[in-house]
Amino acid sequence: MSVKRIGVLTSGGDAPGMNAALRAIVRTALNRNVEVYAICEGYQGMIDGGDRIRPMTWDSVGGILHRGGTVIGTARCDAFRTHEGRRLAAANLVERGIDSLIIIGGDGSLTGANIFRQEWAGLLGELAEMGKISREAAEQYAHLTIVGLVGSIDNDMHGTDMTIGTDTALHRITEAIDAISSTAASHQRTFLVKVMGRHCGYLALMSALATGADWVLIPESPPDLDNWKEKMVADLKAGRKAGRRDSIVIMAEGARDRHGNPIESAEVVKALEEGLGEEVRETVLGHVQRGGTPSAFDRNLGTLMGCDAVEAILSAPPDTEPQLVCLRGNRIVRAPLMECVQKSQAIGEAIKARDYERAMDLRGRSFKEAFRTLRTLLRSLPHEPAPGQRRLRLAVLNAGAPAPGMNTAVRAAVRIGLDKGHIMLGVANGFEGLANRQIKEMDWMSVNGWAPMGGAELGTSRRVPTGRDFYAIARNIEEYKIDGLLLIGGWTAYQGAYQLYCERENFPAFNIPMICLPASINNNLPGSELAIGADTALNNIVWAVDRIKQSAIAQRRCFVVEVMGRYCGYLALMSGLATGAERVYLHEEGVRLRDLQNDLDKLVTGFKHGKRLGLMIRNENCSTIYNSAFMSALFEEEGSDLFDVRQTILGHVQQGGDPSPFDRIQSTRLAARCIDFLIEKAQDEYPGSAFIGLEAGGIQLHDLEELPRLMDEEHQRPKKQWWLDLRPIARVLAQPGPEHQTESEVLLD
Ligand code: ADP
Repeated sequence: MSVKRIGVLTSGGDAPGMNAALRAIVRTALNRNVEVYAICEGYQGMIDGGDRIRPMTWDSVGGILHRGGTVIGTARCDAFRTHEGRRLAAANLVERGIDSLIIIGGDGSLTGANIFRQEWAGLLGELAEMGKISREAAEQYAHLTIVGLVGSIDNDMHGTDMTIGTDTALHRITEAIDAISSTAASHQRTFLVKVMGRHCGYLALMSALATGADWVLIPESPPDLDNWKEKMVADLKAGRKAGRRDSIVIMAEGARDRHGNPIESAEVVKALEEGLGEEVRETVLGHVQRGGTPSAFDRNLGTLMGCDAVEAILSAPPDTEPQLVCLRGNRIVRAPLMECVQKSQAIGEAIKARDYERAMDLRGRSFKEAFRTLRTLLRSLPHEPAPGQRRLRLAVLNAGAPAPGMNTAVRAAVRIGLDKGHIMLGVANGFEGLANRQIKEMDWMSVNGWAPMGGAELGTSRRVPTGRDFYAIARNIEEYKIDGLLLIGGWTAYQGAYQLYCERENFPAFNIPMICLPASINNNLPGSELAIGADTALNNIVWAVDRIKQSAIAQRRCFVVEVMGRYCGYLALMSGLATGAERVYLHEEGVRLRDLQNDLDKLVTGFKHGKRLGLMIRNENCSTIYNSAFMSALFEEEGSDLFDVRQTILGHVQQGGDPSPFDRIQSTRLAARCIDFLIEKAQDEYPGSAFIGLEAGGIQLHDLEELPRLMDEEHQRPKKQWWLDLRPIARVLAQPGPEHQTESEVLLD
């Protein structure tokens, strides 16, 4: 039986990004000629019926991408836990011909949905028996198709790397902790910060990693000592002695000791005050964590999951098991819903049963790895080198333009290297510094406070070594006895590393392992789908475009916004997707005059029919002839009295600012792997060199020799770019809806 109508609801706790999912679901469905109904206030609306279940139009989801929470409301609903409640809900759905549901919620909401589906046939039988629906209707709607999306700031669902809302919550938490640390450092104070997470320590763990906190308490891995309070105090004291000016302890709501007793924040404060002999301030972040405008990541995650949910419904065979739309290794995939829910609940049970090892195992490899890395980074001093251990001398440098997250990566690399007993050297100003002996030993505290810092403290340069540089660099590698080199940066870093690699025959000093860590806001590096810095830049763009759009609320105006990226359209496309731009211009596609004519025609028709805002985003190099000024002038002239046009070139705002939580977390993870690589390869007589990155399967390494094969050197971008596949989604969702053929006052978004 073909699907006729989809119902969509948000249920349980709200999460930023739910609106993006709703918009994508509604527009994808309408684009596929499927009717879609919003069920307002979660399951309560399904039971109440009436106008709480309403047909959605293209424009009814306009102007909501940037809004936090959920515009269709959410609720907790006890009546849905009862059979009678679910029967009422079933009657309301059948009455409207809804036979497919997309539920955006947490594990509770999804469990409820599963029960509903299992009972569905029985409920329809009862309703027919009671004369509430006809026998034909019971037969016609015999199967209920269910697809779930996880909207939850806790990131507590098995099967998906991220849930909708988590990244935004991390933004709120890191903003707050960064702010707290600056005041704490001024007064040399200690703070306890409590974050959400009853059964899941993800937010606490990742925010600690991202902010450089000093101690963390999570439910899955309680402190393994009974006298943990003394240990915590001793660690903080040691940190102060080593030169830290602030001490920050982060605890998850559900923190517990190893006997399973909940840890109250008051007892942590008391222990800290008594032990440290100073006043300790507590900050409970509470609902701030849930609120506010969704991050670029959550908007795009919600959008991509929403689109896939509709496709999942349309392709589901009758009476199919409910599916969950998940993100795995930067790809949207589907998994059996109840298996994911049950595995997630098993973690809660393991915690309850005090089987913490199992709880950590169930959280997965990257969670465990992050926890291990955190425990290294928050030490006040590194471990002593093992007796007789060969101490390597590993150098770190930045190359290319500064990218937010570079400092976080250097901090992680230096501390992890030191903790493993090696000597860490910092090279100032990239290859230039390597040639000019700007090399110095880094100690534990030399990178203190670098986790949240934007820019590049070590300095960076765009110089790629050539000719004479090789000799100077080779001499310095020998003189400083460098055993391995970590290069953090953009195309300059990759090219430089490759040059040194190719010169190994002439300069034996270059026969050391080298590894490149992708850091460039342009996201134009091979072997990595996401480079460090790109997420921060994307959020900077989205922040600016949101404001630009608001500024035009009273006028009929079209903006042409130019974003960075060199020849790579990643920032343009992803910011277009996150802000609802109706047109994105990419160098990869080129710009033709007939495209501009076509876009202009659409603008004119739209504005004639009540549209008030146009948004076009262009990559800085999409066309040298049809540049920003040309496009704006063309639209302005041809738009005559219908609308005016403003061009905005966002410029270096995009490169600045503190790194986003995602960039901080990924740079730390990647740096940890890079140091492991250098240590391992330094033992080889002819060590290999590599570049690292995040790919569909997780963190991957590529042999440096592969660089020319993967790179389009002329345009300095990878030959294959995964995100180009998202273009049809951006195009469909931002096109004017059929309502724009009529007079409409709703913003196109
Ligand atoms: P979340 O979805 O965020 O985990 P809850 O656990 O509070 O939030 O669930 C939200 C709503 O989902 C509940 O108020 C209830 O209406 C419904 N629900 C949850 N669990 C069940 C269940 N076992 N059976 C039926 N409905 C449920």
